[in-house]
Amino acid sequence: MTSRAPAVAVIGGGQLARMMAEPAAALGIPLRLLAEGPDVSATQVIPDHRVGDYRDLRTLTEVTAGCEVVTFDHEHVPTAHLEALAMAGVACRPGPAALVHAQDKAVMRARLAELAAPCPRNAVVTSTDDVEAFGFPCVLKTTRGGYDGKGVWVVRSADDCLEPFAVAQESGVGLIAEELIDFRRELSALVVRSPSGQAAAYPVVESVQVDGICKEVVAPAPGLDPALAGQAQQLALMLAGELDVTGVLAVELFETTDGRVLVNELAMRPHNTGHWSQDGAVTSQFENHLRAVLDLPLGSPEPRARWTVMVNILGGPHETGRLYDGYPHAMARDPRLRVHLYGKDLRPGRKVGHVNAYGEDLDDCLERARHAAAWFAGELGDESE
Ligand code: ADP
Repeated sequence: MTSRAPAVAVIGGGQLARMMAEPAAALGIPLRLLAEGPDVSATQVIPDHRVGDYRDLRTLTEVTAGCEVVTFDHEHVPTAHLEALAMAGVACRPGPAALVHAQDKAVMRARLAELAAPCPRNAVVTSTDDVEAFGFPCVLKTTRGGYDGKGVWVVRSADDCLEPFAVAQESGVGLIAEELIDFRRELSALVVRSPSGQAAAYPVVESVQVDGICKEVVAPAPGLDPALAGQAQQLALMLAGELDVTGVLAVELFETTDGRVLVNELAMRPHNTGHWSQDGAVTSQFENHLRAVLDLPLGSPEPRARWTVMVNILGGPHETGRLYDGYPHAMARDPRLRVHLYGKDLRPGRKVGHVNAYGEDLDDCLERARHAAAWFAGELGDESE
């Protein structure tokens, strides 16, 4: 007897959808994609795709027809549309009630406070007077629509607040103020949870952000106190359960100089801080996301090697990167390197791929992954072998 695997609809055609396609192919799970344009990253590898607007309910209804579940490459689908799909019998994973905590930072902070999750001190602000009352310096964030450091400002005076309020007003969103945290480093605790409540926790990783963009991830976070790592994993598992998350939940954290973790933000989809797991863990975050949204037993999140280093390939100021042309050198120099390109053209600051290096020696992994990412991004001259 054979049986047909249920189809999974994915909304959003970026690299996260693209990277779901690899385990989906291995497991024989058909994906159907709603993409923003005909040539975006995921349309290149998911043949069953349509181009359309994720803000249009009719489009969403058509794309998800016949699919068992719908999941997401991004968190921007309007809540009301997800509620309508859920009413029509399409299982949204994660569901709208969970997803709102990854969409709206004010809602997220309020709920985390109810759950007594450790957070920077924060408040919703509607005027410069409110920010002054909160206290300078602080961080202002748009409640919705921010990503890769856009919609985040460190403000030290009333003048600094002009731009954030102008941006917020123009885009019709609110602002929250947060205490400016003097952190040691940024960590991420990534967990996966299925509708029936099974969960798996990946090792807590260190992430290095440059100008608000994730540049590098080291798994596991070097030198992290095991008790603090355990607390971070417990916190992520607690949040996944309490918020009823299905699929991946990445909890971005600050490790403070006095040895605590504070929640920065939540992502409810495969996350850049989990890309190391493609090559460094028994089961990647992408495979576990698919297993979770289909309520299949989860795979082991255990590392395959002592260390895995992921370095993003980011477009530099000049479009001199090599990408595919860089393969001969990169592959010959390091046959153990794992390369993931997203089928995107290089543009300044754009994430176009990443490399993973794993092994027993952290410095060696760092050197290999950094060298390769710099090579692809065009930061190294031809002679620097
Ligand atoms: P995004 O939605 O763009 O990912 P984040 O809320 O993660 O925005 O903020 C982007 C970066 O800004 C963080 O990775 C961190 O480096 C810095 N940041 C954010 N909030 C704070 C804070 N309260 N204190 C200090 N730095 C912060």
